[in-house]
Amino acid sequence: VSDLLQTFRDREALLEGHFQLSSGRHSDKYLQCARVLMDPILASRLGAQIADALGARLREAPTAVVAPALGGVVIGHETARGFACASLFTERDGAAMALRRGFTLSAADRVVVVEDVVTTGKSTREVMAVVEERGARVLGVGALVDRSGGAAGFAVPFAALLAMDVPTFEAATCPMCRAGSTAVKPGSRPRT
Ligand SMILES: [Zn+2]
Repeated sequence: VSDLLQTFRDREALLEGHFQLSSGRHSDKYLQCARVLMDPILASRLGAQIADALGARLREAPTAVVAPALGGVVIGHETARGFACASLFTERDGAAMALRRGFTLSAADRVVVVEDVVTTGKSTREVMAVVEERGARVLGVGALVDRSGGAAGFAVPFAALLAMDVPTFEAATCPMCRAGSTAVKPGSRPRT
């Protein structure tokens, strides 16, 4: 779905500058997925596309989508709509990822984990661990964007609508930092 990149441009969701990603790594490009997902019709369509792409690689239908808050909540919900299954999210309870708000999973559940953007796959793996702690099975992982360069390496099928091969850097080796600029966290920066 190469026109998704154009959609990000059209929605002013592809930012260029010097950014600190939620993974802590630095990059000169940032996808502000919320600018795309703020359109409910488009969000619903993208969720359906993730469900189709990932569902084609699964032998069983999921009973639930679980997504990490905040970034995964909207696309997780819309992917769950595509699968016609439940939509749950995890959130940070201190440092640990947790299921709260009365959400439950049992050994009978088959789960798809959904993210907006996969960079290192760390938060995805934290969600997978929460699911597995409850005895549920993770069938696969879905995302809008794969920024991992194929390095996320999940043990289950992984489908992303857009692979974006943009280099990211550890802060210590970031060429933009070395040139004297300071990375900003675009996710929390007010739009002006
Ligand atoms: Zn930097």
